[in-house]
Amino acid sequence: MSYDPDNIFAKILRGEIPSFKVYEDDDTYCFMDIMPRSDGHCLVIPKTPCRNILDASPAQLSACMATVNKVANACMTAFNADGITLQQFSEAAGGQEVFHLHFHILPRLDGLATRPAGKMGDMEQIKAHADAITAVLAAG
Ligand code: AMP
Repeated sequence: MSYDPDNIFAKILRGEIPSFKVYEDDDTYCFMDIMPRSDGHCLVIPKTPCRNILDASPAQLSACMATVNKVANACMTAFNADGITLQQFSEAAGGQEVFHLHFHILPRLDGLATRPAGKMGDMEQIKAHADAITAVLAAG
């Protein structure tokens, strides 16, 4: 399986389609999922191409995990969360729909189930959730 440079997350990285940015550094980009399964659901991706966990380099994985750690902690504060669910799907049989490596960060509240996948979120609310995470990150 080869990397398709026209996948939707590659387009987001190139600025060809919009995204609600949460965080970026030299190697990774984090933005809101537009079909959130929990409040604050966001995605961490490497800036360099790879499809998923199967072809990712140790450097790509390490950079993504550092960002996951940073953003997950910010989400705990921003949403007064009780925990985090981290998800990664590889290849169609594994549940992957967008073929650029990404890690889902889902802030979780005690006793509250995740929402079903595939339902478009409210864009104003998603923007507000992005702002809540970036405010925590900015406060250090
Ligand atoms: P998966 O490949 O199964 O891990 O899921 C891809 C995820 O990308 C889903 O949770 C979608 O809601 C999300 N998604 C698809 N298009 C966009 C987009 N343009 N901006 C943000 N998230 C997206």
